[in-house]
Amino acid sequence: MKIAAIIPAGGSGLRMGYSIPKTYLTFDSVPIIVHTLRIFQDSSLIDDVYLVVQEKDREYAKNEIVGKFALTKVRAIIAGGKERQDSVNHGLTCLTHEHEFVVIHDGVRPLLEKEMLEKTIHVAMKEGAAITGVPVKDTVKSINKLSIIKKTVDRHNLFLIQTPQVFKKDVIVKAYIAAYQDQYYGTDDSSLVERLGIPVKMVEGSYENIKITTPDDLMLAEIIVQKRKSHTQ
Ligand code: C5P
Repeated sequence: MKIAAIIPAGGSGLRMGYSIPKTYLTFDSVPIIVHTLRIFQDSSLIDDVYLVVQEKDREYAKNEIVGKFALTKVRAIIAGGKERQDSVNHGLTCLTHEHEFVVIHDGVRPLLEKEMLEKTIHVAMKEGAAITGVPVKDTVKSINKLSIIKKTVDRHNLFLIQTPQVFKKDVIVKAYIAAYQDQYYGTDDSSLVERLGIPVKMVEGSYENIKITTPDDLMLAEIIVQKRKSHTQ
């Protein structure tokens, strides 16, 4: 039984305002994507990693990321697609009959802790599918077209969903095939599974597992890393 990880890192990152994809920007002296891949390199539960990047960046990722930082579990560097879902779908095509579980984790979430990754995998092994998220802390309201509040939503059972998302391989492959048949695009992988009526277990994650989207997030990432370093000294 093997566990594979698919790391979609094929976005353009235009919101960052830089000409290079955000995944190659650096904090704590190392590119974002290297921080992310190291989590998987260091986990004994992970056997094979499939990195998805933009077609034009495949050579760069091979030499300057995977080769330079000795990320030996990366088995293939795959060209991404138009949407995140297309990129993950390309990653799924690389899996073999040996893979029983698949972890999907955004390349731009470099602050996931190994313990959290492994906890989510263990829950998925028991339940078939598990994803991480954090409880909503703010008050949530829905509005109409004129920005007038329609109602205040009960946040009691609301979670902000992150990655990792971990699935039995057969489940996620079936969900992706069905999504493309129905031309359904979701904003995460779990939504493709949920729409088939398959239960997905929620694992409470960490507010530090941020998705790096803007330059402010990069500064926050730097602060979180320094805080972690000071705690381990
Ligand atoms: O689009 P979003 O910001 O949610 O991206 C989440 C992850 O999906 C990022 O790591 C990004 O690089 C990746 N992605 C991808 N292919 C795309 C769009 C996003 O691999 N076409």
